Amino acid sequence: MLASTTARATVRRHRNFRGGVLWCFHFRGGMWAAGAVKVSGCLAAFSVTLRRCLKLGAAMAKSKFEYVRDFEADDTCLAHCWVVVRLDGRNFHRFAEKHNFAKPNDSRALHLMTKCAQTVMEELEDIVIAYGQSDEYSFVFKRKSNWFKRRASKFMTHVVSQFASSYVFYWRDYFEDQPLLYPPGFDGRVVVYPSNQTLKDYLSWRQADCHINNLYNTVFWALVQQSGLTPIQAQERLQGTLTADKNEILFSEFNINYNNEPLMYRKGTVLIWQKVDEVTTKEVRLPAEMEGRKMVVTRTRTKAVPLHCDVIGDAFWKEHPEILHEDS
Ligand SMILES: [Mg+2]
Repeated sequence: MLASTTARATVRRHRNFRGGVLWCFHFRGGMWAAGAVKVSGCLAAFSVTLRRCLKLGAAMAKSKFEYVRDFEADDTCLAHCWVVVRLDGRNFHRFAEKHNFAKPNDSRALHLMTKCAQTVMEELEDIVIAYGQSDEYSFVFKRKSNWFKRRASKFMTHVVSQFASSYVFYWRDYFEDQPLLYPPGFDGRVVVYPSNQTLKDYLSWRQADCHINNLYNTVFWALVQQSGLTPIQAQERLQGTLTADKNEILFSEFNINYNNEPLMYRKGTVLIWQKVDEVTTKEVRLPAEMEGRKMVVTRTRTKAVPLHCDVIGDAFWKEHPEILHEDS
């Protein structure tokens, strides 16, 4: 350590922003570290206790601007609770129009959403289940997750940014003939659920929402596309109708049995971790052989697998007890 003989240390009293006293060492000449060596020799010359000086050692490493950290809000998610991040497309009504999405459902757009959600689950840590429908997706983090010390802002921003960049990155894989005309955006929120029941009710709520919206949209677009009603006329026709009425219109006027509509449209998409056999071909060459031989290799991998099933009833949770397991 280079202790400069010209280095001089002084202690000055400052007020911090709360009005408290802050003792600071100021050095002229020499290095900070060299000055620190001299400090111990100088201590007796100043009427400060050793304890205060030791405390000062920690303060010295920080700048005087450090106090601004105290303005940061604590957003730690409550321990032992399920943390849910839900994202939603910003102004996707317009986005769907501009990009010629099929009505009432565009399977390319739904598959792209699911691809993004799988990417989120695979890139980020501790997500046990995800559920998506329309332009929204919910991600459930393990109860015991300590990822980024359970900070809500970290959970939310990582999920939303990973999802949004994936949406642009994978766009061409799903919309070959449709260029992406402008960058899409997503909002996000964090909700903490204290029990298995509240988490199951949350997912049931989103799936019920999927059903209500999809039934409405299926009849609405049949009236517009097949009966030639204007959107306002179709809206008026459906005002005050119940589920049974909508099913009846679909069946009697369009010969559509709603229960035969694709499960992905009616139930949305659930993503859970499952073991999947991945079959690949690998070229193997023994030392004595000139040419390699192609061999089929099967590897078992755990992947985020999409299901289009009911999560409102008990069957799903009985079939997949690991999702709500205590260690989750
Ligand atoms: Mg939206």
